[in-house]
Amino acid sequence: MTTPARPRLLIVDDQPLNIRVMNEIFCVDHEVLMATNGTEALEICRRHPPDLVLLDVSMPELDGLEVCRRLKADPALRDMPVIFVTSGNTEEEETRGFAAGAVDFISKPVNPVVVRARVHTHLTLKFQSDLLRNLAYVDGLTGIPNRRRFNEVLSHELRVCARSGEGLAVAIIDVDHFKLFNDYYGHPAGDDCLRRVSGALLSVMRRPRDLAARYGGEEFGCIVPAISPDHVIPFFEKLRESVIDLRIPHETSPTFPFVTVSVGIRQVVPNAGTTPLDVVSAADESLYKAKQQGRNKCVLSISQ
Ligand SMILES: [Mg+2]
Repeated sequence: MTTPARPRLLIVDDQPLNIRVMNEIFCVDHEVLMATNGTEALEICRRHPPDLVLLDVSMPELDGLEVCRRLKADPALRDMPVIFVTSGNTEEEETRGFAAGAVDFISKPVNPVVVRARVHTHLTLKFQSDLLRNLAYVDGLTGIPNRRRFNEVLSHELRVCARSGEGLAVAIIDVDHFKLFNDYYGHPAGDDCLRRVSGALLSVMRRPRDLAARYGGEEFGCIVPAISPDHVIPFFEKLRESVIDLRIPHETSPTFPFVTVSVGIRQVVPNAGTTPLDVVSAADESLYKAKQQGRNKCVLSISQ
């Protein structure tokens, strides 16, 4: 499924009549948002990102070109396709529009067949590229985010927390004696074990900014932003216990008869110089200690 049932369009035009005409063309099978000026359009894009924007070029104050430039300058909004709707229709105007980041032009008065076809084409392209981008960030075995996604989110959250002064916890989690598990139960059972462990992690990491990712092999990475220092250990203890609660038998484990995990945690209040590598290396060191101390443990290191 690449296309949502009702794609969301934003129609921006300073003339309400023009909006009404567009709305009649699209309202049956699209969710239509409307704005009559550039400022309002940008605000809607931030609050309820549409799948595509139909943008009037000439508007008082913030014109369409400037709105488009600002959308393209915002990493969170730059993938949103913008089609300019213009009465000018000169080559020069089109050139400036494409330079601002538009994907297409439609001239006024709009022809319903043409505008529907163009919108349909660009929505299809948009959903296909969303799908590809998402696939590039998902681990094929477990369906949770992959290491690439983990790295991106970690750099982003370090910057956000450095600005806000919030603390952040990062954990690297390793399934204990996983090689012995695979040797005894076979790789299909090993795959199933990893899927169930990832499900347990997701069940604990429920806040919108929490991220659980497959880091590689039998390792998982967790990013928990804006967590207060007192909550870090209880949080990851709950996570560790959620894996024991799966009660996946592990007969050949020298430490416990069920599958367990070791958890290495780094707690940090980042500053502008904190790098993802610093944080992950420190979490890795904690993980190593958890393994040395007998596994099925959380070990925390704190950076002041
Ligand atoms: Mg206008």
